[in-house]
Amino acid sequence: MSDIPNSQTPVLKVAVNVPLSREFDYLPPADGPLPAPGCRVEIQFGPRRQVGLVLGHAGGSDLAPGKIRRCTAVLDSSPLLSDEALRLIRFTSDYYHHPIGEVVAAALPALLRQGKPLHPSVEMLAISDTGEAVDIETLAKRAPRQAELLETLLDAGGDGLEADELTEQLPHWRRVAKALFEKGLITRFDARPADFDETLAPAATPGPTLNKDQVAALKTLRGDKDVGAFLLEGVTGSGKTEVYLRRMQDVIDLGQQVLVLVPEIGLTPQLVSRLRKRLGIEPALLHSGLSDIERLTAWRAARSGAARLVVGTRSAIFTPLKNPGLIIVDEEHDHSFKQQEGLRYSARDLAIVRAKHLDISVVLGTATPTLEMLHHCRSGAYELVRLPTRAGGARPPTLHLVDTVRSPLTDGISEPLAAAIKRHLNADGQVLIFLNRRGFAPTLICSSCGHIAGCERCDSRLTVHARSRQLRCHHCGFTRPLTPNCSECGETVKPLGEGTERLEEALCERFPGRTVMRIDSDTTQRKGAMIDALDQARAGEAEILIGTQMLSKGHHFPDLSLVGIVNADQGLFGTDFRSGERMAQSIVQVAGRAGREKRAGEVLIQTAFPEHVFWSTLINGGYEQVADEALAEREATRWPPFTRLALIRSAAHQREDAIRFLEVAQRSAQEFCGDNLRVLGPVDAPMARKAGRHRAQLLLQSSDRRGLHALLRELRQLLEQAPAARKVRWSIDVDPIELF
Ligand code: ADP
Ligand code: ZN
Repeated sequence: MSDIPNSQTPVLKVAVNVPLSREFDYLPPADGPLPAPGCRVEIQFGPRRQVGLVLGHAGGSDLAPGKIRRCTAVLDSSPLLSDEALRLIRFTSDYYHHPIGEVVAAALPALLRQGKPLHPSVEMLAISDTGEAVDIETLAKRAPRQAELLETLLDAGGDGLEADELTEQLPHWRRVAKALFEKGLITRFDARPADFDETLAPAATPGPTLNKDQVAALKTLRGDKDVGAFLLEGVTGSGKTEVYLRRMQDVIDLGQQVLVLVPEIGLTPQLVSRLRKRLGIEPALLHSGLSDIERLTAWRAARSGAARLVVGTRSAIFTPLKNPGLIIVDEEHDHSFKQQEGLRYSARDLAIVRAKHLDISVVLGTATPTLEMLHHCRSGAYELVRLPTRAGGARPPTLHLVDTVRSPLTDGISEPLAAAIKRHLNADGQVLIFLNRRGFAPTLICSSCGHIAGCERCDSRLTVHARSRQLRCHHCGFTRPLTPNCSECGETVKPLGEGTERLEEALCERFPGRTVMRIDSDTTQRKGAMIDALDQARAGEAEILIGTQMLSKGHHFPDLSLVGIVNADQGLFGTDFRSGERMAQSIVQVAGRAGREKRAGEVLIQTAFPEHVFWSTLINGGYEQVADEALAEREATRWPPFTRLALIRSAAHQREDAIRFLEVAQRSAQEFCGDNLRVLGPVDAPMARKAGRHRAQLLLQSSDRRGLHALLRELRQLLEQAPAARKVRWSIDVDPIELF
């Protein structure tokens, strides 16, 4: 690409962050070196200045010579993104049929996307000598907010504090800062933020001696078998992490980098601290809880190779790596690896693709593998590595059903569950009560006219939040005050069903003197709240834990001996073809929190349908049996992984607009159609109205992946141009995991 003839000015192929599936042609600036692929340029795009990324060079353009613009500036003297990183971006754009400029935007940290330099400086504030001499107590009487700011900067010392950090501590500091500047009590300056420092970690500590299964698993992972991925399937607590750790050490010893993808960092602080301690290496962390500058610092460390260990959530898959040697995807089954809006990609699937591009190994770990991954193992494309028993001698928990028809519920808790809670508490065990529904109650009903409080903008019920005295829609965020009377007839209303808030109240009443702690997204909004709550829970400070799926993932509570699953029936009759798989995953994961050390674990599952075949399969055959049967069923009914899906969604203010748009897609799909293609729809989405828009969908199903993608390519071009598109928001979801 670099040997372009001098006689001709090369044209830059530029990715611009707009929803169009094209690259845009620009000329390089009149003088200066030609920006290489992977460099950012500033361009005039319509009326606006935009940041674009050079994807490549071309000898000419389809645009008339007078029409093609010059870029206004080159922002990078050397490429930000390597050829390998660009290749992944291209793949993502092609496979998910998503505009490449938006893929680039998703792959870059916010500051780079905005055109900031790779090493930006940050605004700093510090107290001055005069400021240090001020008597803060006196100032506090007159101007308490000024005193607060001064004190914060005094605590920060001579190096000062980043403005962003200050904003986190004192959101409105700028309002009072002016007076302090004028009096010369504080100063402002620019500084380079501290670079990533790998030596912050403590010295490495050795792990346990591996057991026989772990040794065998490690041997397979170390072998040179040429497979697309290793699927490390091990029951919860089987020592998967110990096996990853040894593989990571191998790769790090060779001077290469390891990329670890985790579902949500906020939920897995334990894993991060374990990696740090065991390897003696500070990981570069990439997740949504970082400030822009922190994220850029970590990204840069991965790119330069300064970080040998990079741990991140979904979008970290796009992080450039100087010298990658291994990718690990922990909890492969977790849904958070799939982005459900905008660029709808699966970070797990991209990890497999990227490892292939790089010719390195990828290890996917889980206790509950997805059927997709199991299918690939059976076909021989991937290698299954199993750890069948718990490490360190802990036994698997026992599962029992509680029939809620025969043992009625009081505030969601049956007598057998209440008795078990009591028993475990008396034996000094910790108890986890799981309910995947936050708030006080999912429904508010009028006891006279039967009116149910619904969302004004969605086809959904409003959830009662008693503590904050609000009704909230969990789909669009709509809230209104909770009033004691029906909005229709004025009679008294009552909350129906249970959420975690109600369980908390009920359990506090039933077990006075015991500490009850609720962990869900309502109780953990403050930054760091989740980590604090988990620390307390681990230290045994809470005897009864109540939680949503947040609490089911990866945590290790040493004394936890009983898990109660309050409402297990949500998935039994689900309409989605994945309901059974999902439900088994969720139950096995939460059950896996019990009995991880010396105590035996017990799991009680409340269900109104104890005779349902799902239960006997799960209890007698475990997840493996559920997966086997589900795979056979999928094969018979031709659902994934035996066929491929793509879902086209549309949303509009008017139903007809949403449907009409999809009819355009449907017609061309049918014209295009090979024998393998099934076109289902357009139909209303299962929740037809959300946030004031009507939603519809068209499902494309095929056993021929290439054919399906060829069709999607055509459709994307067509739909971008279609007049019917002007009235709708639409998207293509390849390999969707939710069909609504
Ligand atoms: P997983 O990742 O499969 O949930 P972990 O690696 O976290 O499992 O291991 C679960 C527990 O067992 C941890 O406390 C870990 O330290 C311990 N453990 C793992 N492997 C061994 C072993 N070979 N000997 C003793 N304890 C082990
Ligand atoms: Zn709503």
